[in-house]
Amino acid sequence: MSSATGPKAQAPSDIPASDTGPVDADALRAKYRQERDKRLRSDGNSQYREPTGALARFLDDPHVVAEDRPPVHDHVTFAFVGGGFAGLVTGAAVQQRGIGTVRIIEKGGDFGGTWYWNRYPGAQCDTASMVYLPLLEETGHVPTEKYVHAPEILAHCQRIGRHFGLYEHALLSTEVTGLIWDQTQHHWRITTNRGDDFTADYVGMGTGPLHRPKLPGIAGIENFAGHSFHTSRWDYAYTGGDPSGAPLTGLADKRVGIIGTGATAVQCIPHLARWSAELLVFQRTPSSIDARNNEPIDPVWFSTLGPGWQRRWLRNFTTLQTGGFADEDLVMDGWTELSRRIRDRMVEMNPTEFTREAFLEAYRSADDQKMEEIRARVEAIVDDPATAEALKPWYRQLCKRPCFHDRYLQAFNEPAAKLIDTDGKGVQSITAQGVIVNDTLYELDLLVYATGFEVGTTFQRRSGFDTVGQDGRLLSEHWQDGMRSLHGIHVHGFPNLFVVSPAQGANLISNVPHNLIEAAETIGTTVAHAHASGRSVVAVTEQAEDDWVEMLRAGNRSFGADPDCTPGYYNNEGHPGESSDQLTRLGFPEGPVAYFNYIDEWRRRGTFDGLTFTRP
Ligand code: NDP
Repeated sequence: MSSATGPKAQAPSDIPASDTGPVDADALRAKYRQERDKRLRSDGNSQYREPTGALARFLDDPHVVAEDRPPVHDHVTFAFVGGGFAGLVTGAAVQQRGIGTVRIIEKGGDFGGTWYWNRYPGAQCDTASMVYLPLLEETGHVPTEKYVHAPEILAHCQRIGRHFGLYEHALLSTEVTGLIWDQTQHHWRITTNRGDDFTADYVGMGTGPLHRPKLPGIAGIENFAGHSFHTSRWDYAYTGGDPSGAPLTGLADKRVGIIGTGATAVQCIPHLARWSAELLVFQRTPSSIDARNNEPIDPVWFSTLGPGWQRRWLRNFTTLQTGGFADEDLVMDGWTELSRRIRDRMVEMNPTEFTREAFLEAYRSADDQKMEEIRARVEAIVDDPATAEALKPWYRQLCKRPCFHDRYLQAFNEPAAKLIDTDGKGVQSITAQGVIVNDTLYELDLLVYATGFEVGTTFQRRSGFDTVGQDGRLLSEHWQDGMRSLHGIHVHGFPNLFVVSPAQGANLISNVPHNLIEAAETIGTTVAHAHASGRSVVAVTEQAEDDWVEMLRAGNRSFGADPDCTPGYYNNEGHPGESSDQLTRLGFPEGPVAYFNYIDEWRRRGTFDGLTFTRP
């Protein structure tokens, strides 16, 4: 069998299913509800604090000091807000078609988006590099590992920037403050916090959800007198070390605390446990941790992949990860394993009909088994029984971002590391000296916030500006009851504007870049058509937008909003039905592969159904 790295790929789990015994599904469900109820809180998303006022320093860029430059007053063909994967792949798609000048505007000091900010020790991609890193064939890069580390991902972003000439007109360390459609000139006017005021025929927006850090709304957070930072602004000047994993020598005499045990914390805690004099991990909800089995990629094997391999791999991963069938599993990891188990369970159940209910039953049963294995894995690895018990996750694997790591659970066997479990309640308060849990003060030199990013807040709040479309209509008004679009890309009343995100398209959450690559292709094709025909104002009709949203709503088959799920950003912090943004959680009813087929066909048809093209 072929694999992500050559012939040696290992099975994802290291605990055989047979070791966990039969599952009492009812008892498990009761336990899940009990654990969920401990964590449900009426304030949901508003429990978090924005880093503003006294906390604004948490947003400072530790990597680059913005240099003075004269403001820009010119015109470009295509402007893109955000220099992460969305901006890079869309910029590349437009450049490949030779339509005109492309300008990316990015608040960080370089391209990379989430990978510009997140340089904490141990950061790495958690879906396989072969499908996670975009444009590998085009740039010729050979990933070094099945799951590459952050410095390589950032370098790849810079490589894409150079390869497609995206640095030439880019404005880095620059935040967009205004985006207004000029309906007399038929172009967008863009203003920034650096005094720029320029125009663009077309604008793309890829302001992703994982760049605005959030802080916990813990009483006294402003009072901590020691050192503190958010994981997305890692302060190596304090900790020593570097993003490649060099020893954190600055922590040799430090008592370090970390709040949060999500996907980020799972990657950096092994490093903190290894190098800190003492490490206290403050846990509200444990993550599910399956085996990672990272390994180097063999360049000789890589060179045998034929042209078009990356599209085949993307298609294969998405098919298998979302419950479809394929002759072989190219990536073969914990993501595809979950689906493989569901398929196997379906075959065992041998239902008379392959209904959604049958699928859900197979999913629940496969998941129960998987989570039993994950809990057994904790017990097998963690020496101290009480710590092991507290590290067991009691929810379905997809209620939160599933984690895969081969050193996280082991870190709790390090003499320096101690788990402070809050039994779902979270940290009680913060004082000048440290953190209080269960009325006990834990004094700290350094407090690291691994508390994640704003995901459930509005698009406008995350972008930092509102967009003004035709007749002065604000995007926030148009979306006041939730996102509305055609294909997640085109918005009625906002001509020549293209949104790039998974929402209202494939909504493939496991491997976000796949959504972005397809959106870039769609936008490139659309803009090229407008350009070539001289009918350069592209708009979506109200009817097409209404029909699309209605189709998504009617076909909603999401099971991510399982009512038994523990709170987190996947379910709007335990209030799935209350989010004004819940429409953004909708994807194509038949699933991501069907959406990718649909949009491919839509592009190929060349009739651009739902859009109008007019000559100004
Ligand atoms: P998350 O939002 O997943 O985790 C935040 C953590 O902070 C949770 O453990 C949360 O607990 C905890 N927390 C919040 N408030 C409190 C409190 N008052 N007291 C104690 N604990 C608290 O953020 P991450 O940065 O870990 O991950 C965000 C996303 O980034 C991931 O889901 C993933 O999509 C992405 N990511 C991707 C990576 C990749 O390799 N591609 C790597 C890392 C992250 P609780 O669970 O109880 O809410």
